[in-house]
Amino acid sequence: MKPASTPSETAGASRPRTVVVGGGLAGLAAAAALADAGLAVTLVESRRRVGGRAASFEDPLGGLVDACQHVAMGCCTNFLDLCRRAGIEGTLRRDRTLWFIGPDGARSACTPSRMLPAPLHLAPLLLGMRHFSLHERWALTRGMLRLARHGVAEGGSRQTALDWLRLAGQPERVIRLFWQPVLESALGESIDLVSVTAARKVTVDGFLAHREAADLLVPTVPLGTLFGERLAGWLATRGVEIRTGTAASAVEVDPAGRVAAVRCAGERLPCAALVVALPWRQAARLLPDVVPDADERLAGSPITAVHLWFDRDVVDVPHAVLVGRVSQWVFRAEDTAGYCQVVISASRGLLGGDRERLVDTVVGELRDVFPLACEARLLSSKVVTDPTAVLSVRPGVDAVRPQARTATPNLFLAGDWTATGWPSTMEGAVRSGRLAALEAAHSLGHAAAPLVADLPRNPLVRLLAGRG
Ligand SMILES: Cc1cc2nc3c(=O)[nH]c(=O)nc-3n(C[C@H](O)[C@H](O)[C@H](O)COP(=O)(O)OP(=O)(O)OC[C@H]3O[C@@H](n4cnc5c(N)ncnc54)[C@H](O)[C@@H]3O)c2cc1C
Repeated sequence: MKPASTPSETAGASRPRTVVVGGGLAGLAAAAALADAGLAVTLVESRRRVGGRAASFEDPLGGLVDACQHVAMGCCTNFLDLCRRAGIEGTLRRDRTLWFIGPDGARSACTPSRMLPAPLHLAPLLLGMRHFSLHERWALTRGMLRLARHGVAEGGSRQTALDWLRLAGQPERVIRLFWQPVLESALGESIDLVSVTAARKVTVDGFLAHREAADLLVPTVPLGTLFGERLAGWLATRGVEIRTGTAASAVEVDPAGRVAAVRCAGERLPCAALVVALPWRQAARLLPDVVPDADERLAGSPITAVHLWFDRDVVDVPHAVLVGRVSQWVFRAEDTAGYCQVVISASRGLLGGDRERLVDTVVGELRDVFPLACEARLLSSKVVTDPTAVLSVRPGVDAVRPQARTATPNLFLAGDWTATGWPSTMEGAVRSGRLAALEAAHSLGHAAAPLVADLPRNPLVRLLAGRG
C-alpha cells in the first residue's frame, strides 16, 4: 500500500463513497450489499465485462459460450438469494434428478424424495444407483451417515477425504464411482488432496441437510449474459457505478493508517472504505502487506472444459455424471443444436496435457454412452483449462483463509478464497462479498443485511450432523 498524498475523502456530502475492486461474484455481491446499506459504490473491474471466473467467450459462430459450465446447488442460499433479488433466478433451471452413467453405460436417474424428511429423502437417490450392488449402496449410505457424524474431535482436520474414506471402510468401487466424481466436482480438487472437513461439508450441506439441498441449478443463458449484463444492469439501477476495463494498481493509505484512495490507470478514486474482491494472487499484488502471496497452503486447482460442436444433438439428458471415466460431467446446451460441454475437475496433468488426445478420449467416451454420438460428426472443439480455477481446499487451508476484516480499519477482503467456511464456489464468493460489505458498512456506521441462513435442518438432521 502507498502513503496517501491527501487526507481521506468521501465523494458526496451525505453518502460515504465505497470502492469495490474486482467484478467477480464476490465484488458484485459486495457492491449490492453496500448499495443496500445506503452507501455510494464504485466497482472497478479490469476486464471488459464483470462476472470474473463465471465468464463466457464468443464462439466461432458469434454466440456466447461459457468458458466452463457453472452449476449451483439448492444449498447455495446466498447465491440464490442474490439471483432472486436481481430478478435472474428464473434463468436457472432446477434439475431434481441427477443422472449417473456407470462404466458399463447403465443409466441411473437419481431423484431425492420430496415427501420423506431429510436425510431419508436420499433413500431413492441412493437406491437408484444402478451401477452399484445392494451391498455397495448400503456401504455408501453408511459412509455418508458416518461422515456426517464425523467431527473435529475425531482429529479429522489434517486428514484428506481419501484417507478418511479408506479408514471408514468404503469399498474402492464406491470411492471411485461415487465419492471421487461427486467430491471432485463439488470441490474442484482431487479426493487425495481435499480435507475430510471439506468433504463433510459437501455431504451434509449438499445432500443430507435438506430435501432441496442436492437440486442442481443450471444457468439457461450464458454466464456473460447472466452476470455480465443482467446482474450488472440490476446493480446499475441500484446506483452502483461500474467501471469495466479499469484495473486497480495501488491503494493509498493516509497518515492515520486508513485507506484514502485507490489508483486506477492514473486516476485516483477516493474512498471511505475499500473492499478488495480479487483472487489471492492478484490481491497479494495489490496489497502485499495484507495478503500472504507466498503461503504454499494457498494453492489453486485446475478445471478443464471440453467444448464440442457436433453436426447434431448427441446428449439426450440435460446433464450426466460419467463415472469411472476421464469425462466427469456432460452438459447439453439449451439452445445450440449439436453443442455439448464436458467438464473435468482437478485436471492437473490430464493425459499429459495433450489436447488432441483429450478431445479424442472425451468424444470416444460420449460415443460409448450416447448412441446418437456414434452417428454424429464432430465439427469443432475447444479445450479451456483454468489452472487456478478454485482454491484447493486441502487440510490446513482454513487456517490461512483470511477474514473480511483486516488490520487496516477501512479495508476489507472478499473472494471465494477468503474465510467463508465454504469451498471456492459461486456461493462462497457471494458470501464473502456480503460478509465484507457487512464489515465495511459497520465501519462507516451503516447497517447491512446479514447472510441469508442455510436451508433449515429438521431435528433428525440436527441429531445426525449438528445445527450447521
Ligand atoms: C473452470 C471453472 C469452473 C467452475 N465451476 C463452478 C461451478 O460449477 N459452481 C460454482 O459454484 N463455482 C464454480 N467455479 C468457481 C467460481 O467461478 C468462483 O468461485 C467464483 O466465480 C469466484 O468469484 P470471485 O469474485 O471470488 O473471483 P473472480 O471471479 O476471480 O473475480 C475477480 C475479478 O477481479 C478482476 N480483477 C483482477 N485484478 C483486478 C484489478 N487489479 N483491478 C480490478 N479488477 C481486477 C478479475 O478480472 C475478476 O473479474 C468454477 C470456476 C472455474 C474457473
